[in-house]
Amino acid sequence: MSITSYNPADPADLVVAVEAPGAEAVRAAVGRARAAQAGWLAAGAGARSATLGRVAEAVEAHAEELAALIVREVGKPLAEARGEVARTAAIWRYYAQAPYEPSGAVHETAAGPGLLLTRRRPYGVAGLIAPWNFPLAIPSWKAAPALAVGNTAVLKPAPEATACALRLAELTALASLPEDVFTVLPGGAEEGVALVEAADVVSFTGSTGVGRAVVRAATGRGVPVQAELGGLNAALVLPDADVELAAGHIAAAIAGYAGQKCTATSRVIAVGAAYAPLREALVKALAAVDDSVCGPVVNEAARERMTGAVSSAVEAGASVLVGGGVPERAGWYVEPTLLADVPDQHPLAREEFFGPVAVLHAAADLDEAIALANDTPHSLATSVHTRSLDAALAAADRLDAGMIRVNAPSSGVDFHLPFGGTKGASHGEREQGRAALEFYTVSRTVSVLPGGGL
Ligand code: NAD
Repeated sequence: MSITSYNPADPADLVVAVEAPGAEAVRAAVGRARAAQAGWLAAGAGARSATLGRVAEAVEAHAEELAALIVREVGKPLAEARGEVARTAAIWRYYAQAPYEPSGAVHETAAGPGLLLTRRRPYGVAGLIAPWNFPLAIPSWKAAPALAVGNTAVLKPAPEATACALRLAELTALASLPEDVFTVLPGGAEEGVALVEAADVVSFTGSTGVGRAVVRAATGRGVPVQAELGGLNAALVLPDADVELAAGHIAAAIAGYAGQKCTATSRVIAVGAAYAPLREALVKALAAVDDSVCGPVVNEAARERMTGAVSSAVEAGASVLVGGGVPERAGWYVEPTLLADVPDQHPLAREEFFGPVAVLHAAADLDEAIALANDTPHSLATSVHTRSLDAALAAADRLDAGMIRVNAPSSGVDFHLPFGGTKGASHGEREQGRAALEFYTVSRTVSVLPGGGL
């Protein structure tokens, strides 16, 4: 079977086609990575730091080319693609400092002389499985911390983002990352399953169903695993909010990159008197969104899924406030869409569809808004729009979400802070920031007692 990716804006444009390597090749790659790991760790903090820093430089030196490839392969608008490339370089540079961080602590003994130490050590080979929607940033925020602390890594990218991942591997080679320290192996489910079966630590980002299977498989082997999954993210708008500002942020979170971010907003909850002005401002803001913000969805199946859900919601009584159709043009475009009166139990109000579509709800007060926002099994990011610090802090306290963003779009990630959701949106240790360094290492306790003779 071959792995292919096509340009979502021009489906006749084949970006890459490679033979799927198969499970045996995955096991062989993990074997080579395991053989390379001791040398990579022994190279020392200075060498690892310098190498990761060179990867950042290589990414920066090829920034425009990488941004163009992201645009072509996954349909991300150019401004966001450039932002992703810049963030990718920043991630490698941030983790280039990590090898110099303390790896443990010194403790007093409970009784008698001696020295007690904790020391974090790498697991061996990190198996990294990535989705297509951040084709450079997600592989990087998994690989960079794993490598910084002395693991080697094998990445299996999503088929839709194969060319970006292969280019990242070339740039790491250009940065003199030693052979077999970071391997990119294109593939689909078969290669993903094989990687989970062979790696010493597993990091997965992708859809909820696949992620649960990955967690079961890794846990069954007794291997540490983290999984970052889908989100059903809400935006709460309080009556005191600057409605125009909120509508701008929310429209960007609904339609930016055609809603294909795990942190995209798909439910808007207007509190009390905010409803009518927000509806009007949001319709205006979404109607003004163009290709420089939205872009196509990734493929035909994604567009069919999205438009099917909108039609079924309308049949169930929903009304379309803006959008609702697909433009007459080549490419997998969906109009930025806002619906009202979607029945509570309709899939559009309950599941992630990964498109530029959101549902508008009304809530009588903050309590009802928070209850509505929390009524989801996938709580990744929630935005709150208000001028009141008290209300913002109260909402942040009571919202059951991994990330709460006040007066900002729900989409948006600070790579140096922990990233993840609650309930079904995440499993295991957080990604990014220092949390990632903990995930890719295990703590050892060392007790050193006097050897006698002194
Ligand atoms: P997906 O689940 O279809 O695929 C993710 C990866 O898993 C791909 O590399 C795929 O080839 C691989 N895979 C498929 N079957 C597998 C199996 N049985 N075992 C092991 N690996 C397997 O997801 P996608 O369509 O690539 O990405 C979109 C999804 O990712 C959305 O649900 C989105 O919310 C989620 N996502 C989450 C985050 C986050 O951090 N929470 C970030 C980005 C995307």
